[in-house]
Amino acid sequence: MTDGARSGCALVTGASRGIGAAIARALAGDGWPVGVLYRSGADAAERVVAEITRGGGRALSIQADVADPGAPERAFGAVESHFQAPVLALVNNAGINRDDLAPSLDDERWNEVIETDLNGAFRFTRRALKGMLRARNGRIVNIASIVGLRANPGQANYAAAKAGLIAMTRTVAVEVARRGITVNAIAPGWIETEMTAGIAGELLAQVPARRAGTPGEVAAAVRFLASEEAAYITGAVLSVDGGLGA
Ligand code: NDP
Repeated sequence: MTDGARSGCALVTGASRGIGAAIARALAGDGWPVGVLYRSGADAAERVVAEITRGGGRALSIQADVADPGAPERAFGAVESHFQAPVLALVNNAGINRDDLAPSLDDERWNEVIETDLNGAFRFTRRALKGMLRARNGRIVNIASIVGLRANPGQANYAAAKAGLIAMTRTVAVEVARRGITVNAIAPGWIETEMTAGIAGELLAQVPARRAGTPGEVAAAVRFLASEEAAYITGAVLSVDGGLGA
């Protein structure tokens, strides 16, 4: 069990399914009490909580749409009063894509993706830093994407949001480094979840590992970055992509 697990709790956005659910399970496995945030999947989030509880961990599901500016205050309040501990690990995982080629990408889909994938992550980060600065201890892990590092036609909105998330990660990391807080990003490649259901085998040929990754493989990287052992890693972008970006 990490020091963080003894004195604080973790909060994972978009943890009802896919990568976020795997991250919640992994952090709980490391001893963190975990706030399992979801937007619409209440039943799915409850299943994640039940699984963690069956394994001897502690978890609480909380409805929170990250695009809602009031969500961080409500979610942090709920999780911190339930576990009677400050949030010392935040994983900004919630994300959506609304793909189209730039000439036909309308303002609505542009804004929806920026609001969810970038603005939401910033507001949760800002709220998390309050308690972390007080504790002089904290871990923030942002789930970006390989698309924030290199082009993927049809995803100008998603790419802008994820590249922004990476730039935000680096800047906030430098701002808070001397206060014992680390801020890192993970750039997954192609991970098998509902978001990527139906992606053609044509992508497979581009992945040096010749397979999609699993949510558990992303979660393992988050678990490491949230641990005490990763105290000197900050402002980093860790690719979990089977070599796709190499
Ligand atoms: P899924 O579509 O499987 O799951 C998305 C999760 O995000 C769900 O739990 C969903 O909640 C939640 N969510 C969506 N919008 C909101 C919102 N406005 N507020 C709160 N929660 C929200 O996606 P993945 O697990 O594949 O993706 C997780 C993260 O990983 C995303 O940030 C994605 O961009 C990133 N990523 C994924 C890759 C992949 O190949 N799968 C590759 C690179 C990055 P609910 O269902 O409750 O509404």
